[in-house]
Parts: sequence; C-alpha cells; structure tokens
Amino acid sequence: MSKDREFEGYRRYVEELVALEDDALREARATSKREKLPPINVSASEGKLLQVLARSINAQRILEIGTLGGYSAIWLARALPPAGQLVTLEINPHHAEVARRNFVRAGLSDRIEVRVGPALDSLHRMSAERAPLFDLVFIDADKEAYVNYLEAALPLLRRGGLLLADNTLPEAVLNDSDNSRTKPYNAAAAANSSLTSIIIPVFRDRGLDGLMISVKI
Ligand code: SAH
Ligand code: MG
Repeated sequence: MSKDREFEGYRRYVEELVALEDDALREARATSKREKLPPINVSASEGKLLQVLARSINAQRILEIGTLGGYSAIWLARALPPAGQLVTLEINPHHAEVARRNFVRAGLSDRIEVRVGPALDSLHRMSAERAPLFDLVFIDADKEAYVNYLEAALPLLRRGGLLLADNTLPEAVLNDSDNSRTKPYNAAAAANSSLTSIIIPVFRDRGLDGLMISVKI
C-alpha cells in the first residue's frame, strides 16, 4: 500500500470512529466555502481533540484567537456547560459575520462572543479590563504573531489551564536554517518555565500538522 493511501486509511478510521461531523459542522464548512473563506479550518479529528481537551479540564471559559468561519469554535463550544462562554477573536469582519451565522445555526450563539479587530488589541483590552481568567486558550491566527499571542494570552489563562497552538508542525521544522511560521512560538513555549508542553501530530485532509499542548503550571 502506498504511504498516502495508508495515511488516508488511518485518517478515515479515526474520523469515522470518533470525529463524525453532524449537520451543523457540515453546514459551517459549506457556508464558509460558499462565502469564499479559505479552507484552513482544523480537521474534524483535530476539532474533536480540542473538544476532548476542553472537556478533560471541565472548561467553563475558552478563548480562541482566529475564528475564520467558526468551525473550530463549534467543536470547542460544545464542550462547554450551558453557562460557559467562548470568546473568539477575528480581524476580518466578513469572517466574523459568517461565523456568527454558523453559531446561530449550531444553536451556540448564546455561548459564543465574536470580537472583531486585531487580536492583540482585544487581548490587551481584556487584560486592562481584568476579564475573568480562561481555562483554555486556542491560538490559530496569523502565524508570525504567535509569540505575541503567547505573551498577551498567558496572563489571561488560569493556572492548570491549557494553552493550545495550531499549525505547530510546519514544513520549516524539517530545515534547521528556516525559522519561519510557528517555529519561534514552539521555541518560546518550550523555553517558558511556566509551561509544560508537547506537540501532538494531527491528521489534516492532506498530510500532517501539529497541535502544541501546554499546561500552565
Ligand atoms: N480557528 C479556525 C481557523 C482560523 S484561520 C478554524 O480552525 O476553524 C486564521 C484566522 O485568523 C483567519 O480568519 C484570519 O482572518 C484571522 N486573523 C489573521 N490575523 C489576525 C489578527 N491579527 N487578529 C485576529 N485575527 C486574525
Ligand atoms: Mg490552523
């Protein structure tokens, strides 16, 4: 069997066993495609991984950086109790609008707040406002700013909370002289003494990527 087909077999097995999409998730992807959003959402199995992680710490408050059409936010918000809240930050008003519609259709609009604007501004505002701490932060916006997001989001995360970062196995990790994409974030998180971290490979529709999971200690 070719490597590609073998990989596809593993991917489908996991997805069909534990990460099947329902109508709301399928619709969120379809609407995003119709509205010409780039297809750069997490895969179904990574969405399920996010949800399982949020459940495992009984998360009540979740912060997402990078909403797109709301696909990952739907997976995450489904881990919340009815009184829980997910705040998601998005710079593109069109993306935010598509996401809001997807949240209504998923029956989650009471639990999700979309804040439009540069994520760093929103993070600084939340710190200044002394917003209640979050149990989980998921970083998935512009890759060049991940280190800034780490610094701005860490004070907003409770001790014992999870800091998750998507796209942390870029091709650049195969080349020692390439320090692009999320490599500076990986190095910063690994070197941060208030975090203990691992990178988990995740299935994409094509090939692999990574989710960095850090616990704030
Ligand atoms: N988490 C989503 C995918 C996010 S894609 C999912 O898996 O479903 C990255 C998103 O980050 C895009 O929608 C992009 O518009 C947004 N983004 C890029 N730069 C940003 C910034 N400076 N502040 C906030 N959002 C930003
Ligand atoms: Mg991503």
